[in-house]
Amino acid sequence: MKLYSINSGHFKLDGGAMFGVVPKSIWNKLNPADENNMCSWAMRCLLVETENRLILIDNGMGDKQNEKFFSFYYLHGNDTLERSLKHHGFGFDDITDVFLTHLHFDHCGGSVRYTDSARTKLEPVFKNARYWSNSRHWEWAVNPNSREKASFLNENIMPIRESGQLNFIDKEGEWLPGFETIIVNGHTESMMLPLISYKETKVLYCADLIPSVGHLPIPYVMGYDVRPLETLKEKEKILQKAVSEKWNLFFEHDPLNECCNLVKTEKGIRAHEMIKVSDL
Ligand SMILES: [Zn+2]
Repeated sequence: MKLYSINSGHFKLDGGAMFGVVPKSIWNKLNPADENNMCSWAMRCLLVETENRLILIDNGMGDKQNEKFFSFYYLHGNDTLERSLKHHGFGFDDITDVFLTHLHFDHCGGSVRYTDSARTKLEPVFKNARYWSNSRHWEWAVNPNSREKASFLNENIMPIRESGQLNFIDKEGEWLPGFETIIVNGHTESMMLPLISYKETKVLYCADLIPSVGHLPIPYVMGYDVRPLETLKEKEKILQKAVSEKWNLFFEHDPLNECCNLVKTEKGIRAHEMIKVSDL
């Protein structure tokens, strides 16, 4: 098995919304805000190459929405999904499986594109791939509550089902040899976290449970979470296990740090060393 970090670009989100109840005097040191209180975040995907599969975990926000939408999110930087895949010698058609942790637009928008310049018809970007979600999350996303409605965009989601490429993983635990899933319910209903056995160690793809290194302290929970108290419990449990079993954490949204290992301190579980997956 081989792992590749695939950055699909950076975007901006309000720093206060990203850190919930944590005051700006603290979070601004972790990720300094611009003059509009916005912080830069990565949309970092993970590519898993096995003997017979090429699995892409999440795929960024894509490019389908209008100018007004992108003016809210300030897409920036040189990385795109296509460029980052190409850098490792892969193209869209090589992907056999698209694993979607959840269906918020910054995680699944790269799944679907317009087929024509008039932007009238949509198709899946990965034509040879099976797309993976789970039935509980899928139902939640296609019948969204008003809190998450702006994050679940029909154009990112429906074409996956219409093309017949949608599949569900409905059991926690081993999905493929060396590839487990952990289900968490604090950020949204049934978000799936991949836990991958890799060269004597395990790598946890943290998605929006712990979006960046700055979110390691237990109460540093995003304002977006639908069940923040659930997130506290899930972080506590997963971080305890991660530190005792020496997992590496992979961060989807950290603007700088790809991965870290952990250490127990007086204040709680914190990052020990910053790592790149290519060095694992
Ligand atoms: Zn996110």
